[in-house]
Amino acid sequence: MKYMFDAHAHIGEHTENAFVCTESTQFLESARTFRHWALGTIPEGCESDIEKLYEAAKAGGHIGEIGLDKRYPDEEKQIRIFKDALSVAKECDRIAVIHAVRCYGTVHQILRDMGIDRFIIHGFTGSGEMAKCFIGLGGIISISPRAERAKSFPSLLSLPFVTETDMKTGDDEMAVLSAWNRKLSMITGRDIEKESERRIRDIL
Ligand SMILES: [Zn+2]
Repeated sequence: MKYMFDAHAHIGEHTENAFVCTESTQFLESARTFRHWALGTIPEGCESDIEKLYEAAKAGGHIGEIGLDKRYPDEEKQIRIFKDALSVAKECDRIAVIHAVRCYGTVHQILRDMGIDRFIIHGFTGSGEMAKCFIGLGGIISISPRAERAKSFPSLLSLPFVTETDMKTGDDEMAVLSAWNRKLSMITGRDIEKESERRIRDIL
């Protein structure tokens, strides 16, 4: 419990031990009350609100979550908004927190082409090879309990990663994170809670 830090959570109870991200730019006021926070717009019905993202970056926030999601239409629009948001992160030297569903290749290409090296791929469930490609760009892979169902799960454990819940901050979130860290520590024989906390605090 000493090192517990959630690498990706959403607005709930107040805490300093989570990186709190938003799905929409309308949550700027509540997001900024947290110690570690990011403002974003998810691919589902996302709208470009670059002014709000600049406002967040200037107020000390990071950018996210942002990204691409194959389950939703209008890929072109998603890509345009994703790139806009990434350009704010780059210009203001902020972390980009990335949501990617079934489009890791495209996301990787965009990050590489734009020279983005300060990012977290949250809720990662892709292959071990893909994870290495993101890490190679300088990014961080974050895994939630959903990663356990991914084919790549065993291979991900030999790579550097951080742990997350993707839940609202609060008691339930801390219980899930604690159980997840414990499980990963049991499998790997390493202190995952400590490793993850160090890794995320290093970049925040
Ligand atoms: Zn999330």
